[in-house]
Amino acid sequence: MNIQAKKRLIKNTTKDAIAILLAQAEENTASHPDRTKRYIEMLWALVKKYKIRLTKDQKKKFCRKCLSFLIVNGNAKAIFDAKHNSFYLKCGKCGNKRRI
Ligand SMILES: [Zn+2]
Repeated sequence: MNIQAKKRLIKNTTKDAIAILLAQAEENTASHPDRTKRYIEMLWALVKKYKIRLTKDQKKKFCRKCLSFLIVNGNAKAIFDAKHNSFYLKCGKCGNKRRI
């Protein structure tokens, strides 16, 4: 196996792990909020270590600043900015805004 194939294998397995972690985080939001936080932290560590690009949907699911899982109308707010004609997702915990 050459180096590029190895790298691809590592990226693909890590992407799968990230998808599983996000699903687990979503599952535990109501029953175990502390676990959700931990899953997102683990996910973010993987993203940083292996330089994984998250998909658009994955990016919307957690706050990049405080690493909390975002639930629209729960701990996050969707705001419409008429000036720039775009939607923002505002984290209720740290106030970080992100365009969606
Ligand atoms: Zn936040």
